[in-house]
Amino acid sequence: MNLCFNTALAAGYKSKAQIARVLSESWAASNVFCPCCGYSSLTKLDNNEPVADMRCDKCGEVFELKSAKGKLGKKIPDGAYETMIQRINSLTNPELFVLQYTPEYEVTDLTLIPKFFFVPSIIEKRNPLPPTARRYGWVGCNILYSNIPKQGKIPIIQNKNVVDKEIVVEKYTTVKQIQTNNIETRGWLFDVLNCVNSIHGDVFTLKEMYGFVDVLQELHQDNHNIEAKIRQQLQLLRDKGFIEFLGSGVYRKKI
Ligand SMILES: [Zn+2]
Repeated sequence: MNLCFNTALAAGYKSKAQIARVLSESWAASNVFCPCCGYSSLTKLDNNEPVADMRCDKCGEVFELKSAKGKLGKKIPDGAYETMIQRINSLTNPELFVLQYTPEYEVTDLTLIPKFFFVPSIIEKRNPLPPTARRYGWVGCNILYSNIPKQGKIPIIQNKNVVDKEIVVEKYTTVKQIQTNNIETRGWLFDVLNCVNSIHGDVFTLKEMYGFVDVLQELHQDNHNIEAKIRQQLQLLRDKGFIEFLGSGVYRKKI
């Protein structure tokens, strides 16, 4: 995999944002394999395609590409808020590639966020654009990247090291078990998974999980039996292969 952008393609473009888009999209289309099925390349879609930037011709998955020069912040700016929420609720949002590159246009990191890791709670509504803006009143969104559980961030390139294709596809296939068609269930599952992830070490107890009751109550104010919900979500995480039960309220992380 060639990690350098083909800067010759920037000829004729003036805006920095446009140059970044053209270079990163063409780099991805000619270098990245499909992380969902392992097919060797992706097809770049027309710029007027509203949903996605690339498609895998073998498995049909579509991908959106977001790129950042240098270090990634906690939030990634994305398109229109309402459209994003609609796509998540109707399960039609694309898989997301997050690409980081140096000022010299060399790729350092590429991460896949599987589409089923998106929930409305990781989407932040931005303020409407002011009257001085060309698109006055338009409301965009931010993806709260740091709120996505670590299992939903699959590295493809890490610090300029390319991860083996087989490893990437295997990880994608494993975490795909978490997919649910119910958005509310999905939100609960990720909130509890984030709590599990924040516990140090691989083995943890139900008592430790009850330590998150206040945090989860804050996120789900309508629920009045958080402890029961925690137990239910731990069972789901077990059924989906993320954790195992060792007995007597003790659990082990598997992924
Ligand atoms: Zn594919």
